[in-house]
Amino acid sequence: MNPITAPNGTVLVINAGSSSIKYQLVDPVGGEAIASGIVERIGQDVGIVTHKYAGSEARLDQPVADHSVGLRLVLDLFAKHGPDLDAAHIVAVGHRVVQGGAVFSGPVVVTDEVVEQIRALVPLAPLHNPGHVAGLEVARELLPDVPHVVVFDTAFFQTLPKAAYTYAIPPAVAEANQIRRYGFHGTSHEFVSKAAAEFVGRPLEDLRQIVLHLGNGASVSAVRGGRAVDTSMGLTPLEGLVMGTRSGDIDPAVIFHLHREGKMSIDEIDTLLNKQSGMLGLTGESDFRAIHDLVAEGDASAVLGLEVYAHRLKKYVGAYLAVLGGADVITFTAGIGENDDVVRWQALAGLEELGIELDADLNAGRIKQPKVISTPSSRVTVLVVPTNEELAIARQAVELAG
Ligand code: AMP
Repeated sequence: MNPITAPNGTVLVINAGSSSIKYQLVDPVGGEAIASGIVERIGQDVGIVTHKYAGSEARLDQPVADHSVGLRLVLDLFAKHGPDLDAAHIVAVGHRVVQGGAVFSGPVVVTDEVVEQIRALVPLAPLHNPGHVAGLEVARELLPDVPHVVVFDTAFFQTLPKAAYTYAIPPAVAEANQIRRYGFHGTSHEFVSKAAAEFVGRPLEDLRQIVLHLGNGASVSAVRGGRAVDTSMGLTPLEGLVMGTRSGDIDPAVIFHLHREGKMSIDEIDTLLNKQSGMLGLTGESDFRAIHDLVAEGDASAVLGLEVYAHRLKKYVGAYLAVLGGADVITFTAGIGENDDVVRWQALAGLEELGIELDADLNAGRIKQPKVISTPSSRVTVLVVPTNEELAIARQAVELAG
């Protein structure tokens, strides 16, 4: 086994979902992902565990009854295929939690009380928080000697002004049901807005920024002086942009209509809008590489799908320019934002009057390092900055764990 070169120790970052556990062993100083892997299909007939370290991959195909079995298998894979976790000197375990409600405005060290608070938020995130709680409990049991820290996807957006997070429904109904805009992908929006400020060499406090996190899930944020002032995801990650499989914004009356006239149940509509809509619904594919292949074959629905995607994105850019009173920096990030020059171009083309001028050559291709893609005369600096949520979680975990 190769020796690990992380003199200040490592952080194990865990993202436990309802039927999966993703993990990464991170050097929080150098930023390197030393090892990573995923347990998939927990609770199904056959589970899959994939573990990557030092250029090789180990894979197990066997039933994984629950999160406890899953994490034990991961620790076995570390022991067998490396790296040796004793030598890795884990200083903290960082857990990603999607929904922190209005309770958590920053990362916290896990205690029994914190686990109970996250459990109490299950009604707000029924798809995510139960898996997080299971992962937290198992990880604390199996790795009892290190501090565990939770980092919430919603925390960065706890600074949203009331006018931005309030839905126009009677307050009594909203309060009784904890209905408000929470926002998600906060770890990425925070990491990228800080990295963008560093990259352009200006104080974060001075900048009006729009961050476009375009992955399989996608969201936009408006950030003034390092504090989020608006974001496109709402009570749940369903609102906002068109996504891989989510519709994003839709007239709420579509739901009543589908229920009353289309005879669909609420659960069926939930599945339709979260899992069968977005680019998948429009084009038959959720992955933009496949969608571009369809466009190259002349597929009309793929062409329309891309247009719908870019149109929605452009509307949000316009809205957030208005919210911020203009922008200094607009940054693309995540799988599509970093790799898809066509989407970047379509989203910002024709906005010269608003001070946004992309440079076709600078924009071309996949971008792996922070880079300016606007022209020198563009009033707004447009960037691509790769996100790294695991590193952001690892750094917050170390900071908090001391
Ligand atoms: P993420 O959720 O950030 O991991 O982003 C995943 C998505 O990025 C995939 O579903 C693809 O749509 C998109 N993606 C990844 N690589 C490329 C690429 N080379 N070109 C276009 N889109 C890509």
